[in-house]
Amino acid sequence: MKNVLVCGAGGFIGGHLVEKLKNEGCRVRGVDVKAHEFRPSAADEFLRLDLRDPEACRVALRTDGEPFDEVYQLAADMGGMGFIHAAECEIMVNNALINALMTRAAAEAGAKRYFFSSSVCVYRDMRPGEPEMTEAEAVPANPDNEYGWEKLYAERLAMAFERNTGMPVRIARFQNCYGAYGTWRGGREKAPAALCRKVAEARDGDAVEIWGDGSAVRSYTHVDDMTDGIVRLMRSDVRGPVNIGCPQYATVLDLLETVAKVAGKTVVPKPVEGPVGVQSRNFSNARIESIGWKAKVFLEEGIRRTYPWIEEQVRAG
Ligand code: NAD
Repeated sequence: MKNVLVCGAGGFIGGHLVEKLKNEGCRVRGVDVKAHEFRPSAADEFLRLDLRDPEACRVALRTDGEPFDEVYQLAADMGGMGFIHAAECEIMVNNALINALMTRAAAEAGAKRYFFSSSVCVYRDMRPGEPEMTEAEAVPANPDNEYGWEKLYAERLAMAFERNTGMPVRIARFQNCYGAYGTWRGGREKAPAALCRKVAEARDGDAVEIWGDGSAVRSYTHVDDMTDGIVRLMRSDVRGPVNIGCPQYATVLDLLETVAKVAGKTVVPKPVEGPVGVQSRNFSNARIESIGWKAKVFLEEGIRRTYPWIEEQVRAG
């Protein structure tokens, strides 16, 4: 039985990852600064710790015997574009602290494998249809936001610890991830959850606000595919950053249309000013696909797995 630590277990992807690892028979310790907002944790043990504190990182990693077989580091101060633009300083300070202190503490504790959750925000702004970038092409770097710069720093930090301490490190660059049990209101929600909420609140024929003209292109990865990719990558021999994303590109207008279809409503997009982020990011999934991973949940199916939960939350107030 593997002994596993998940940092950020009170969050969206971390909560799903704990569930997956439990289903596989692992013994899981979850750590987060807060409890999960939407459901009880499936972890065997859940510690409330602030990982900006070096002693809290040591406590998270402390065991009675052998060090953890796997440490998944997903804790971060993060949110959708609205939050990323409004909280640049908090993001850079909090995430740099969490990542520096947790990576060092994991190496000192002798963690047998360490996973870091990076983001495709490390890539520059691109035009839709530009050739897909490989992981190495993130450098020379020009991310359009500070969240992406911190992720690049934290990737390098993790790789430096791997070189200097021998702790095996795996790094994934996540594409936009969505699914049930994620933030859907309050300012940190991402586009899929925000549009599900707005459509759930709308009456048939209503206008629904979108930020910008709706032409920005993204790929959206369902959380079931994401957690599958995370665990496969962790247990593979693939070193260095690895993109994980669904190969289906969609505009914000496509996303809204898909949500409306699943909801059985007709809505009219109403463009308003807002932080749109990059126009597009096109990146290769060849590395993650080389270890047998492939996205299985495409956008409409993923929204079918997400919308009913958000609609239920909206109804419940
Ligand atoms: P989330 O906000 O739902 O989860 C992050 C968790 O980290 C939260 O529960 C939060 O309380 C916790 N946390 C924050 N500060 C902490 C601290 N000081 N100590 C302990 N815990 C702390 O976000 P998520 O969507 O589940 O993202 C998980 C990881 O994946 C993050 O590193 C994020 O940057 C990365 N990522 C996510 C996406 C996405 O689309 N969701 C895309 C790219 C990268």
